[in-house]
Amino acid sequence: MKKLFLILLWCICLYSDRSDFVNLDSARQSQIEASATDRERPFPIGKADEEDRFGKVGASPNSQNLSDRCIYGIETDFDDIVVGSSPFSLFEAIYKRCLGRRVLVVEQGAECGGAWKSLTICGVPHVDLGCHEFGRDHRLVAFLEEYAGCNIVDTTPAQNKPVPNGEFYLSEGCYELTRNLEHLMDHVGVTLLLNSKLESVFIDTTREIAEVKINGMRFTTFKLIVTNNSNISIENPEVQSNPHRPHTYYHVGMLIEDPTPPRFTYKNLRTGGASRSTNYTCYSKELQGTGKQLITVQVHGEQNLANAPNFLEELRKQGLIDANAKLLQTENYIYQQVAFNQSALSKLGAAAIFEIINTSHITNLANSIDKWKTVMKPWKEVMAPLSQVE
Ligand SMILES: Cc1cc2nc3c(=O)[nH]c(=O)nc-3n(C[C@H](O)[C@H](O)[C@H](O)COP(=O)(O)OP(=O)(O)OC[C@H]3O[C@@H](n4cnc5c(N)ncnc54)[C@H](O)[C@@H]3O)c2cc1C
Repeated sequence: MKKLFLILLWCICLYSDRSDFVNLDSARQSQIEASATDRERPFPIGKADEEDRFGKVGASPNSQNLSDRCIYGIETDFDDIVVGSSPFSLFEAIYKRCLGRRVLVVEQGAECGGAWKSLTICGVPHVDLGCHEFGRDHRLVAFLEEYAGCNIVDTTPAQNKPVPNGEFYLSEGCYELTRNLEHLMDHVGVTLLLNSKLESVFIDTTREIAEVKINGMRFTTFKLIVTNNSNISIENPEVQSNPHRPHTYYHVGMLIEDPTPPRFTYKNLRTGGASRSTNYTCYSKELQGTGKQLITVQVHGEQNLANAPNFLEELRKQGLIDANAKLLQTENYIYQQVAFNQSALSKLGAAAIFEIINTSHITNLANSIDKWKTVMKPWKEVMAPLSQVE
């Protein structure tokens, strides 16, 4: 009888020991639920009540199922949540995942890229959202070729060549970079939520985690990785989180008939409210051989969106398009950025939970190259086994 009692006691100890250890998630969940109740936060934890609550979900088949707290195959606890999907965010997400961390990228738009995403303009797909200038950093060019599989071309106008330090760009525009980064994320197992805004953040300074609300659902993370333009509202009452006003960028797209070879790729165009212009014809497979060119112009303010005929005239005058070029179609589009509220952080003392990437210019990517290379594999090594399978 005594022996039986001892075995029973041992079993109880073993069970309670295991539940402490294995069931860490449910312990954490209870804590989270308790703190949520304290603050009367209504959204549910760990289950969705509407099937279509999430838009397109890019959960990779390679991502490990590290806990049973999933909604439609998506974890709700992450080591890192990356807010936004510019190349800065995507590289950092891949890096963190390569370190073995559970990473979620949350993007409110329908596709990745931020200011480096591509759009369909005047029926031409994969056109850069911005008139982009890429800098001349050879280290960055080499990194993008070796680790992101990009083909970088020298876009220096023929009349300026040869120059020792040319102008570079991606051979298919920024679509090439974003597409390849999406492949890498999928390969390493970064979870991606598109059409999903990170609505608010509550920083739990005692437990050193952030609870975030996405599509009405609560997720937790140890680190929030943000950029200059992650638009985040902080719920902690001690922070006056007045959102910054959006900065709006206006663009005019012009499809023209001009069978002569394109004469520029990127140009400052300071006329009629324009700031700069890009000719996508060199980057677009769809336009090759059609006798049409697609030119975009970034303009100062909404009032300049109707100035396409003037921009065309200026391009003619500067000999940047043929004298007989005709305007076939125009399409205007805008992009908005809201600056991340950094001053709120110092009030919270939550610096350890936030990681802020300085993203003011694309060449800032070069600051992280050495770090990323410690764990990322070259593109060819990643893709070679996949192409053998196909
Ligand atoms: C029109 C334009 C042209 C530019 N041209 C150049 C250039 O030629 N060269 C250059 O180096 N830089 C250029 N820049 C600067 C550009 O901002 C940086 O290169 C870089 O894109 C900044 O990265 P970011 O992540 O901070 O912001 P963004 O690229 O704007 O990306 C932020 C992303 O975060 C998402 N997001 C924000 N808040 C949330 C949220 N709460 N939940 C979910 N998603 C969220 C947004 O939807 C967006 O996709 C340009 C910017 C613009 C707007």
